[in-house]
Amino acid sequence: MTSDNPFGEAPADQLPFRVGQGFDVHRVSEKADRLLVLGGVEFPGEAGLAGHSDADVVAHVCIDALLGAAGLGDIGQMFPDTDPRFEGADSVALLRIAADAVRAAGWNPANIDCAVVLDTPKLAPVKEQMQQNLSTAVGAPVTVKGRRTEGVGSLGRGEGVAAWAVALVAR
Ligand code: MG
Repeated sequence: MTSDNPFGEAPADQLPFRVGQGFDVHRVSEKADRLLVLGGVEFPGEAGLAGHSDADVVAHVCIDALLGAAGLGDIGQMFPDTDPRFEGADSVALLRIAADAVRAAGWNPANIDCAVVLDTPKLAPVKEQMQQNLSTAVGAPVTVKGRRTEGVGSLGRGEGVAAWAVALVAR
């Protein structure tokens, strides 16, 4: 490293920041009684997603991004889908547990930015509520962007919902 490096001579593994990313996709459940939950917001009457927990794909990518940033593995290691304790679990509550684990490991969540890909339902009316739910769980700002596929591919046919997130953590 050169002397004009803003991080000084710190080795890469001792920098004050780390980033992590999360990706997840859940298919639409064949069970009619599954409730669609995204960012802790329920969408009554919409087709729910399949999954061991509540299948909140937005909370899941936040968890994976945070855990990745802190070097704590991934959501499947922390909350195994073979564990009956997590059957039907509130994924925003799991996000809170993951954020606490990140802090216990010496990292403070700085922010998370998510993109959610689905054509329906529209997220705009509940985006603020999703961001509030997720931010409260993480203890740092979480932003959510809804993105439509304009009918392209399996997501455009409404066969599932995908999401991505990037998280920054600071020492
Ligand atoms: Mg998932």
